[in-house]
Amino acid sequence: MSLEYTKERASELIANANSINTKVETLSNGNTRLVCVSKLKPSSDIQALYDAGYRHFGENYVQELIEKSKILPKDIQWHFIGGLQTNKAKDLAKNIDNLYAVETLDTEKKAKKLNDVRVTAEKPIINVYIQVNTSGEEQKSGVAPEDVETFAKFIIDNCPKLKLEGLMTIGSLAQSKDQEHENQDFKKLVDLKTSLDKLFTIDLKLSMGMSSDYQEAIRQGSTSVRVGSDIFGARPANNGH
Ligand SMILES: *Cc1c(COP(=O)(O)O)cnc(C)c1O
Repeated sequence: MSLEYTKERASELIANANSINTKVETLSNGNTRLVCVSKLKPSSDIQALYDAGYRHFGENYVQELIEKSKILPKDIQWHFIGGLQTNKAKDLAKNIDNLYAVETLDTEKKAKKLNDVRVTAEKPIINVYIQVNTSGEEQKSGVAPEDVETFAKFIIDNCPKLKLEGLMTIGSLAQSKDQEHENQDFKKLVDLKTSLDKLFTIDLKLSMGMSSDYQEAIRQGSTSVRVGSDIFGARPANNGH
């Protein structure tokens, strides 16, 4: 894998990212972070955005993230946003010291694994987001809204190397397409945050919004948007994962 990029590609990526970053900053008064979702895109693309000042990148596949993290700068703040298999949690926690966050945490078992590796290896904490299945779609991963409180308590009480930073959701396509009304999936996440904040006296962040719906997500209170195709262009077909 090469980190060299062409001037043309760099200007394209930077123009896209800057334009989105400006919208994010304006809509949120500087309160929302842009995470550039670079899955299935070359490391040279990430390097180009890094050289322009971007630090937060999101990846979906454990092996791909490990490979990229090895060759890219060590002060990149990696967000793991893909479906996490229990047996891959160890690899993730062990191999990437600069893993800023795992945003797709959905079981106690995975939390325990991530935590135990960081304890044993004496590595930095990992910020975690509980992924919530706000839409109730069967094929969606994530914790059911009514089970989030118990899971949050488990992380707070048992995982000293995990910092519960927030809640994450992927809204349903139907909600995302309906531009006329407030997104009900995002609303559910906001309501959950409000009740958990009171219960645990914390201030959880909200990771919601992608290329198609990040502006609406910010209007509803998102503090972290995950944007891929609007920055990097369409992704290749997902073969081999
Ligand atoms: C791929 C992905 C994104 C980015 O999606 P785009 O539509 O390309 O912006 C955001 N969040 C998650 C969880 C993803 O898997």
